[in-house]
Amino acid sequence: MQESDCIFCMIASGAIPSYKVASNETSISFLDINPIARGHILVIPRKHFSGLDDVDHEAFAGTMELALRITRSISGGRFSEGTNLFVSNGEAADQTVKHLHVHIVPRNSDDNLQWNSWWLSKVKQYSEGEMADTLELIRKCME
Ligand code: AMP
Ligand code: ZN
Repeated sequence: MQESDCIFCMIASGAIPSYKVASNETSISFLDINPIARGHILVIPRKHFSGLDDVDHEAFAGTMELALRITRSISGGRFSEGTNLFVSNGEAADQTVKHLHVHIVPRNSDDNLQWNSWWLSKVKQYSEGEMADTLELIRKCME
C-alpha cells in the first residue's frame, strides 16, 4: 500500500530526499526535519500504515527492531547518553503525519529538554475507587 500524497511514503520511495540513517527489510529511518534534539530520528515502515490501529505485526515488529538497533547503537555515550522513544497515535495524541513513525530523541543530562519537569507538572491524583473504575474500563476494552 502506498499513498501518493503521504510525505513519508514519498521519502520511503525516494521521491523526496531525506537524511537516511539505516534500514531493514520492512522499515527505514531518517533525521527529523524539525528536530527537538540533535540527531532526532524517525523510524517508519516502508509500507503506508496510518498508525498503530492499522499497522500489521510484521511491519511493526520490523520498525521496532530497527528503532532498537539505532537506539542501542547511538546511546550509552556513543552519540548520546540515553534516548526517548515515542509514537504519537491519532490526532488526539498530536500525530501530524498520518504514516506510522517512531521518534528516537537522543538525550543528554545537560540537554535542558525539561521532559521530566513537564511530565511531573501533568501528574494527576486519582482515588482508589477511580483507579479501580479505570482498570475495569481498560480491561473491558481488552476482552
Ligand atoms: P508527529 O507529530 O508525531 O506526527 O511527528 C511528525 C514529525 O515528522 C515531526 O517531528 C516533523 O518534524 C517530521 N517531518 C515532517 N516532514 C518531514 C520530512 N519531510 N522529513 C523529515 N521529517 C519530517
Ligand atoms: Zn505513507
